Amino acid sequence: MTTLIGSCVCSEITFSVEDQFAYAGYCHCSLCRKSSGASGTAIGGILSKYFKITKGQQHLKRYHRSADTVSCFCGLCGSTLFGEKPSINRVHIRYGALNASPSLLPQAHMHVASKADWYEITDLLPQFEAFPPQ
Ligand SMILES: [Zn+2]
Ligand SMILES: [Zn+2]
Repeated sequence: MTTLIGSCVCSEITFSVEDQFAYAGYCHCSLCRKSSGASGTAIGGILSKYFKITKGQQHLKRYHRSADTVSCFCGLCGSTLFGEKPSINRVHIRYGALNASPSLLPQAHMHVASKADWYEITDLLPQFEAFPPQ
């Protein structure tokens, strides 16, 4: 099993995740947009047991951004790294925090209904108004 490594910008927090993502996509929701300062995020969902913080746990900050999601970021450099999804026992890893490519590339665009007007989707991946059907 391949293990992927990720980190924040200042590298004080590092994590490892098995390359076993169950799903992956681009999220265009307003919360992802605001927290990243970009058009949205690329995330991969994985069971929590495949993920662990390997360094800098003491610098990790948590923000309950919605009923289902706890955003986790570095308190030193502000990098948003992953979201905890306790209700489904999964972690949503922000692909941008990984040091190498995961096997599962983003499969779709989600929350397109709240996409930024200034961002145009130009690829042919399926688009969903909100969450893709499970
Ligand atoms: Zn950092
Ligand atoms: Zn989102």
